[in-house]
Amino acid sequence: MEKSIVKKIEEIIPKERILKELSDRYSYSYDASFGEYLPDIVLQPASVEEISLLVKLANEYRIPVYPRGSGTSLSGGPLPVYGGMVFDLSQLKEKLVIDKENMIAVASAGIITSEIHKKAEEVGLFYPPDPSSSNVSTIGGNLLENSSGPKGLKYGTTKEYVIGLEVVTPLGEIIRTGGKTVKNVTGFDLTRLIVGSEGLLGIVTEVILRLIPKPQAKKTMLATFSKFIDSGNAVTNVLAAGILPAAMEFMDNACIRAVEHYKPSGLPVEADALVIFEIDGHPLAIEEEIEKCRVICNKNGATSVKIAANDKERDEIWAARKMVSPAITQLGPTKISEDATVPRSKIPEMMECLYAIRDKYNLTLVVFGHAGDGNLHPNIITDKRDIEEMKRVELAVSEIFESAIKLGGTLSGEHGIGILKAPYMELELGHSLELMKSIKQAWDPNNILNPGKMFPQPGQTKVVLT
Ligand SMILES: Cc1cc2nc3c(=O)[nH]c(=O)nc-3n(C[C@H](O)[C@H](O)[C@H](O)COP(=O)(O)OP(=O)(O)OC[C@H]3O[C@@H](n4cnc5c(N)ncnc54)[C@H](O)[C@@H]3O)c2cc1C
Repeated sequence: MEKSIVKKIEEIIPKERILKELSDRYSYSYDASFGEYLPDIVLQPASVEEISLLVKLANEYRIPVYPRGSGTSLSGGPLPVYGGMVFDLSQLKEKLVIDKENMIAVASAGIITSEIHKKAEEVGLFYPPDPSSSNVSTIGGNLLENSSGPKGLKYGTTKEYVIGLEVVTPLGEIIRTGGKTVKNVTGFDLTRLIVGSEGLLGIVTEVILRLIPKPQAKKTMLATFSKFIDSGNAVTNVLAAGILPAAMEFMDNACIRAVEHYKPSGLPVEADALVIFEIDGHPLAIEEEIEKCRVICNKNGATSVKIAANDKERDEIWAARKMVSPAITQLGPTKISEDATVPRSKIPEMMECLYAIRDKYNLTLVVFGHAGDGNLHPNIITDKRDIEEMKRVELAVSEIFESAIKLGGTLSGEHGIGILKAPYMELELGHSLELMKSIKQAWDPNNILNPGKMFPQPGQTKVVLT
């Protein structure tokens, strides 16, 4: 980066928060997805005023700005594809206030999500969105990706809890959207527009979150099935019985085997699928509901059903699900993690498509996900040094997205578009993509904020990983 521009940056933030060395820049060249892009400079702004001045400078010199939280994105969201500046926003963490009376949390964008969970629960409140990365990802990153997790079915995603924001616009203005009231219908809902915008419409510096009362108790059950279709029927019949579980997580046979191989805990490796059901609410209600779940699973051909008798047994059940990610990384050095999502009733059909794609391209493909909301996580385990196999992976990924869309689903249930799914946006959105582009153009006329993301390059219709 030109010396004169660096000098101007040094007039805005102190030198110790400006990272110019190759080794530092390299640390910001990747996220939890695929591909490496080296930024020209990394800045660690500590206030909204600093961010505003830096963005104004970036506009003056047309320098790309890449906002970054903890870099756990699985779609390439914070990667500096055109070089320029990376803003490390994980340093914005001076504020975390839980307002018990109004049932809200006010947090700086760099606060780690699990800290909000913990502080809210200390006063009997609950912030439901629970991405499995919550111990490392920032609330800012969660918000811009509209993250969620197993509790999405009952409690919704991050967007359901964001009621106000402080944002630096792509032109460097500081604005506030929404506020501290749960009801707010004044004007266009800019809060919702910014949530899930993957850092293309503004840099979020502070968030106001709605909290709810913490459920009094929970019950957890593990059911295994020798036929995948039976597990799907059990899930549908639980919902049809008027029960809304807090979570219904499933793992396929390949995941069960991987977990058992990684850390044996007695999971049946011959099972085609397992489903973890978790019910929360009033202690008397959950006893009755979990019992109904057991009966429904048994009626639908479950080969085993175990209800956790205490916290230790509950943790053991969840350990299987939490071990999937580390376990499958043992199957190969490169993990391509997708989150194609289909209407719940289409899960069995989508599973058939996924296994057909696996066999057609001869790849290691495992599937786990959120059975309640149709959010599947097909993971292809491969080796990026094997160019021939990577070519097959590229074709398989395209077919996964095409299948999800054909079944009435979507490219992403929670991991966002970033770089990796941009080529397929038109396939899902058609003309609405043009409207989205015009919103971006109106907000960011110089296209400096997170350029190269979400919108496909001209003629780009397939992901290229090699
Ligand atoms: C092991 C693992 C498990 C995961 N599990 C889940 C899961 O269960 N559910 C789920 O939804 N996701 C999951 N993810 C994906 C990822 O953790 C989420 O997308 C998370 O919300 C990203 O947060 P982050 O702080 O790491 O943001 P980053 O990855 O740094 O950035 C994400 C996006 O937000 C933008 N951004 C970040 N902060 C700001 C800001 N303050 N202002 C403007 N733009 C900003 C970036 O430019 C980028 O586009 C997982 C990832 C890993 C590695």
